[in-house]
Amino acid sequence: FRPASVDVNEMLRRVVDLLSGQAASRKVSLEVTPREAPVPSVAGEEERLRQVLINLCLNALEATPAGGTVTLSAGHEGGRVWLTVDDSGPGVPQEARDRIFEPFFTTKAQGSGLGLSIVHAIVTQHGGSLEVDTAPGGGARFILRMPLAG
Ligand code: ADP
Ligand code: MG
Repeated sequence: FRPASVDVNEMLRRVVDLLSGQAASRKVSLEVTPREAPVPSVAGEEERLRQVLINLCLNALEATPAGGTVTLSAGHEGGRVWLTVDDSGPGVPQEARDRIFEPFFTTKAQGSGLGLSIVHAIVTQHGGSLEVDTAPGGGARFILRMPLAG
């Protein structure tokens, strides 16, 4: 695979555009904060990294009750770009955190349990990392760290 240079702000805009209908029909607000994060480009394939963010956002939208918010943010620290997806759902229980990246782990009646295992594989192939944490409001936070382009 050939790592290219991915414009993070442009990718975030595309993700929000793609999911705005889905968010609106769930009455969940989908936001990028700040709207133009001062971050360098990351190394990777735009289409696959976008797929990662779409998967994380779909999980976040599914977990968030109507009236809630899903927030995307990006920043630059320690020679890497970080991206977070926060939601205002119930969060990921501590006892599930070790298992959510395993294939077929799901807590949903109709879930495949494949989303996060695919996300994790893509991120790892790109030399990045993915962690789950608790968002400031108590929901789930997924933190992605990616190498810089060039
Ligand atoms: P699926 O969405 O098909 O269940 P995933 O691999 O995408 O499979 O997610 C696995 C599990 O991780 C989910 O079933 C859920 O229990 C948990 N999970 C993922 N994202 C969130 C989130 N934003 N909030 C709470 N739980 C989550
Ligand atoms: Mg999923």
